[in-house]
Order: sequence, then structure tokens, then C-alpha cells
Amino acid sequence: MDLGLKGKTALITAASKGIGKAVAESLAAEGCEIAICSRTKDDLISAANEIKEKYKTEPFWCVCDLNKEKDIELAVEVVNKQFGKIDILVNNCGGPIPGYLRDLNFKDWTSAFEQVLMSVVKFSSLIVPEMILREWGRIINITSVSVKQPIDNLMLSNSLRSGVIGFAKTLSNEVAKFNITVNNIAPGYTLTNRLYDLAVHRAKVSGISHEEILSDMSKAIPMNRLGRPEEIASAVSFLASQQASYITGNTLVIDGGFVKGL
Ligand code: NAD
Repeated sequence: MDLGLKGKTALITAASKGIGKAVAESLAAEGCEIAICSRTKDDLISAANEIKEKYKTEPFWCVCDLNKEKDIELAVEVVNKQFGKIDILVNNCGGPIPGYLRDLNFKDWTSAFEQVLMSVVKFSSLIVPEMILREWGRIINITSVSVKQPIDNLMLSNSLRSGVIGFAKTLSNEVAKFNITVNNIAPGYTLTNRLYDLAVHRAKVSGISHEEILSDMSKAIPMNRLGRPEEIASAVSFLASQQASYITGNTLVIDGGFVKGL
């Protein structure tokens, strides 16, 4: 199916690895011009080279720490300069640190708040006015199944990602009349560096190996396996597509059946 994305421009944040990078690849495969940003220059260069090799399109990249307001402003400025517009904004972020309430100090909370919620607010605030003028836009936020079913030991993610869902629903109503859709993806356990690090952290706390932790995670999933980043990415591309023009204010869970609720 042609998703009608040729010639569209997409900015994907936190996209040098994992789910963000897979999203960049998926949108590049659909013919979008891609801009990726994240904290580490070397990782961005290697992601951009990989995408260029596979999809014969040269991604634009810029260093941007989502915890720094100036970096966010600069990222939007340089991407607009490069492409002249941003049609699709994919708000991804680094995962907040794990921990129970007793493990976290106020600095941890502030840092996670800035990265998880405020980066979405800031990028959207800077990009939506131009989308309104062009009367077309797609905003897709990568959150987590924790917005449907809180996950033990992920206090920061469980608490702050729900704010993103509330923001997205409110914004979706505000901009719907301009053909701008705002949706969220809620990935379940997906095999990336982040998940591997979480397993290592849990292994330390529980005294069992991280291999066992990953295997236990798979067993809790009806599909009996972890997700693949590209399985999250295809759903993002669909939500960005012309065909998804009447879907807005939604949260799509992609978890192999992990969430138990209706
Ligand atoms: P990952 O660790 O593989 O990749 C994270 C990306 O974020 C990297 O490119 C990294 O450079 C970037 N990043 C980290 N901190 C940043 C910062 N301050 N500023 C800019 N960029 C930053 O992670 P992933 O598994 O791809 O996860 C992506 C998001 O999806 C995370 O928020 C994670 O919590 C969430 N998520 C992941 C899973 C999973 O199982 N992998 C499940 C649910 C939700």
C-alpha cells in the first residue's frame, strides 16, 4: 500500500537507536525526507549512514538533548532551514530511569518531566503553528504500555507518560480542523538497548540473570516473544499516512497482547 508520504518531511527525536531509529527507517522507506536528532553525535552519524545506505536518502541530523530547551529550539530551526517545513513530528525520548518512589530524588523527577513530557510540549508548540498554516500535519508520540497498565519499578514512566496522553488528546481536539492528527503509540516490551539495560538493572535487584529476566518478560506476553522495533515503526508510518487521516486523539498499544485490560 502506498502511504502517500513521498515528499513529506519528518522530524524524529531521540532517533539514533532503538525504536526512534526504526521509525526513521520506516518513514525513509516510504519516501519521506528524514531529520533525526539525539544526544550523541557519533551515534547520529552512524544511524544516518546506515539509513542512507539502505534507503538511498540522506537523513539530516542534529545533536539535541531533550532536557535542554535551547537544543530543542535550535533543532526545529535547523530542520526548518534544511527542509522548509516539518510535516510529521515523531516525539520519541530516552526512557526515564527505573526505580520505585524510595529510589528517586526530586532531580530525577525534574529530569524525567523535562524529557518525557516537556519535550513533547516544546516540539509541538514550535512546530504546530506552521502545520496550521499549511493545514496538514501528523504528530505521533512514542509512550509505553505503562499508560494502560503501570509496570513495577517504573515510577517515572508510569507517572509522566500519562501526561503525554492527556496533552495529545487535548491538542488533537484543538488542531483537528486543520487536518492535523495527534496520536500516541504505546509499545510493549521491545528488544532494544533500553530493554536490555532494564533487564540488567532488574537482574541486579533480583539476583537472577538478565537472560532469565528477558525470557520471563517474553513468557508474560501472549505472543511469547518480545517486540521488534520495526513492528512499532510500521504503525507509526501508518498513523503518519494519508490513509490515517480520520484517526486522531488515539493511543495504539503494540505489545503482542501483554496488556490485560479491555
Ligand atoms: P533506546 O535506549 O534503544 O534508544 C533511546 C534513544 O534516545 C537513543 O537514540 C538515545 O540516544 C536517545 N536519548 C536518550 N536520552 C536522550 C536525551 N536526553 N535527549 C535526546 N535523545 C536522547 O530506547 P528504546 O527502547 O528505543 O525506547 C525509546 C522510548 O520508548 C523510550 O522512551 C522508552 O522508555 C520507550 N519504550 C520502550 C520500550 C521497550 O521495550 N524498548 C517499551 C515501552 C516504551
